[in-house]
Amino acid sequence: MRIGTPLAPSATRVMLLGAGELGKEVVIAFQRLGVEVVAVDRYPDAPGHQVAHRAHTIDMTDPVALTALIEQERPHYVIPEIEAIATSALLAVEEAGTATIVPTARATRLTMDREGIRRLAAEELGLPTSPYAFADSLDEVRAAIEGPGNRAGGDTGGGIGYPCVLKPVMSSSGKGQSVLRSADDLEPAWEYALAGGRVAGTRVIVEGFVDFDYEITQLTVRGTEGTRFCAPIGHLQRDGDYVESWQPQAMSAAALAGAREVADRITGALGGRGIFGVELFVRGDEVLFSEVSPRPHDTGLVTLATQRLSEFELHARAVLGLPVAVDLRSPGASAVIYGGVDAKAVAFEGVDAALAVPGTDVRLFGKPESHATRRMGVVVAAADDVATARARAKEAAALVRVVAD
Ligand code: AMP
Repeated sequence: MRIGTPLAPSATRVMLLGAGELGKEVVIAFQRLGVEVVAVDRYPDAPGHQVAHRAHTIDMTDPVALTALIEQERPHYVIPEIEAIATSALLAVEEAGTATIVPTARATRLTMDREGIRRLAAEELGLPTSPYAFADSLDEVRAAIEGPGNRAGGDTGGGIGYPCVLKPVMSSSGKGQSVLRSADDLEPAWEYALAGGRVAGTRVIVEGFVDFDYEITQLTVRGTEGTRFCAPIGHLQRDGDYVESWQPQAMSAAALAGAREVADRITGALGGRGIFGVELFVRGDEVLFSEVSPRPHDTGLVTLATQRLSEFELHARAVLGLPVAVDLRSPGASAVIYGGVDAKAVAFEGVDAALAVPGTDVRLFGKPESHATRRMGVVVAAADDVATARARAKEAAALVRVVAD
């Protein structure tokens, strides 16, 4: 294992596909280890572009453009940070052996659509999930919910009933996702899913609504020394998007053991090295698999305040084959700062007041354009207990105002 000098022939080069707020932190983690970093996104001046050695703006769903860029930059590691990527190009690069795809090209392909990962988890590995079915039309959605079938879990084919959740198979962060409480919600939910999918297409997943006690992200690191588990992260979602997270989430010993078993099995099946965010629903001692990101997870931003090595540093270390340590430094919490306004080149006021709240740190992502529901920054807070940390993070985030300049 050796690391070269950036911008010299000996450089160790990584290419980040996706340079948003999570990509930006991954870039910084690699920069600290003296790695040469190329950041790619679909729009100029993305957060990660601003801290990389080189920045490129391309359509990453275009396999020709993506392949050409990888050939031009010749990275040792290609690190997908988003889901909307031409995974066929990554499979070809991996097969040719010209770069390592993190964690693997197959993991990137399986997790880019909800069907691939759900079928792997529930049908191949037998992991517990909500009952679900896939549909390609409004009639099929109706049949999935109201038709014959059972609610035992797995692909029921039908009979999921109300309430249930409808999501485009190609979507994330709650886009196109809605909860259906009765037949009246069928049509609006279907229309919303059609509009919210990442790519043109109509395929959706219908999931039974899980009345969970809480949900967690089990960050799991696969490195050269095996698989390690971070302390569980609890989080709160609004409209399918994360608003608050905290670590550690209190859990029964049985639920924690269950969470780790599920995380171990799904990440083992995906393979490769790096960090994974395994999303789980917990009801009593029962743990249901929801989904997994083969990369840092947004709810894991809290680890900037809580762990000796953040999820981003853990990812960088695992990718490079360096030792990892998952110990918690302090309980902590994160709270999202939303744009609130639709404007370009906004300004942030109240950062001084936010940072006067004890134990807090503010990260502004530097996005060139704000939207009402766009994540523009985050507050992370540490405290002796999670409740205090959450209160501090929320108080500080509320003090930051995004204004059109
Ligand atoms: P996802 O994009 O699948 O991670 O969903 C975003 C959020 O929506 C989750 O973190 C949950 O809070 C909620 N959610 C998704 N699926 C379900 C479900 N089947 N039952 C209850 N809540 C769900």
